[in-house]
Amino acid sequence: MATEVLKLTAQIVISHASMTELTPKELVEEIKEVFNLLTSLEEGVVAPVVAAPEKAKEEVVRKPSVPLDEIVKDKYVVCLECGKKMRTLKAHLRKAHHLAPADYFKRYSLDPKKYPLVCKEYSEQRRKLAKEKGLGERGFRRKATT
Ligand SMILES: [Zn+2]
Repeated sequence: MATEVLKLTAQIVISHASMTELTPKELVEEIKEVFNLLTSLEEGVVAPVVAAPEKAKEEVVRKPSVPLDEIVKDKYVVCLECGKKMRTLKAHLRKAHHLAPADYFKRYSLDPKKYPLVCKEYSEQRRKLAKEKGLGERGFRRKATT
C-alpha cells in the first residue's frame, strides 16, 4: 500500500519537476506534500484544517435571515430573531428573546451605529424632542436670569 503511494508520489513529482525547475529543498517539500496528500486521500481523510475555523465562527455569529440593508427603515426595524417589524426592538428583544441589545449585536455581528434598534422616524422624533426640550429649558433659564 505504502509502496504504491510512494511510486505515485515519485511519478507526480517527477512529472512536475520536468515542467518546472525545483530547488532540492522545494523538491523535498513537494515529495512530502504529495505523499501526505495521497496517503490521506487513500485513508479517506479529508484535511479538516481549512474548514474548522470557518465552522466555529458560524456557530457564534448567526447569519441574518433578512438582508441587512432591509432591517432599519423609516417606519420600522426588523427583528433578526423572528422577523417581526416594530418601531423599537429594545423591549421586544428582552421580552421575546431574552436578549440584551449588546448580545443581539454580537450574535449577528452588527454595528450598533449602523443598525440601531429603533426605526429612523422614531430616533428622529426622539432627537427632535430632546432638542426642543433642551432649547426650551435653556430659553427658560435665560428668561429667568435676565
Ligand atoms: Zn423578535
